Amino acid sequence: MDLPKDNSSQVDPSNDDSSHDDSENSDGESSIQEKKGIGNSLLKKFRATVREVPVIVCACCGGLFFPSQVNQLSKMRLVEDYDLDPEFLDLVFCVPDTTTFCVTCSKYIKKGEVPSPCLSNDLWLPPIPDSIKRLGQD
Ligand SMILES: [Zn+2]
Repeated sequence: MDLPKDNSSQVDPSNDDSSHDDSENSDGESSIQEKKGIGNSLLKKFRATVREVPVIVCACCGGLFFPSQVNQLSKMRLVEDYDLDPEFLDLVFCVPDTTTFCVTCSKYIKKGEVPSPCLSNDLWLPPIPDSIKRLGQD
C-alpha cells in the first residue's frame, strides 16, 4: 500500500498566526487577575471568620456568643438609665465577674423582664460529680 509522500497540499489554514490580536487577550488576563485578587481576599476573610468561635459568656443565660452578639451592661447603668430594681438585677446577673449580656437577654433586661433562658429560672447545670471531674485528669 502506497501512502502519499507529498503533504504540501494539505496545509491547515488555521495555523496562520498573522491575524491573531494579542491586545484583547491581555485585557482579559488583567481582569482575571483582578478577580483572583478579590477572590483571594474574600477567601482569606471567610477563613478568618470560620476560625472564630463563640467565647463570650452571657451573664444571664450563660450561653457562648461571638463578640458582635453581646452588649456590656453594668448594674449602675441599668439602675440609672432604665430605672431597674437592684433585686431584679441580682436575678439576671447570674454568672459572676462579667457584665456582658447577649442581645436577647439585654433586650428583656432593659424592659425589666427576666429573660426565659436566664439561669435563675432553674436552668443551672448540676455540679459535676468528682468521679466525672477526674476523667479529664492524668
Ligand atoms: Zn443571654
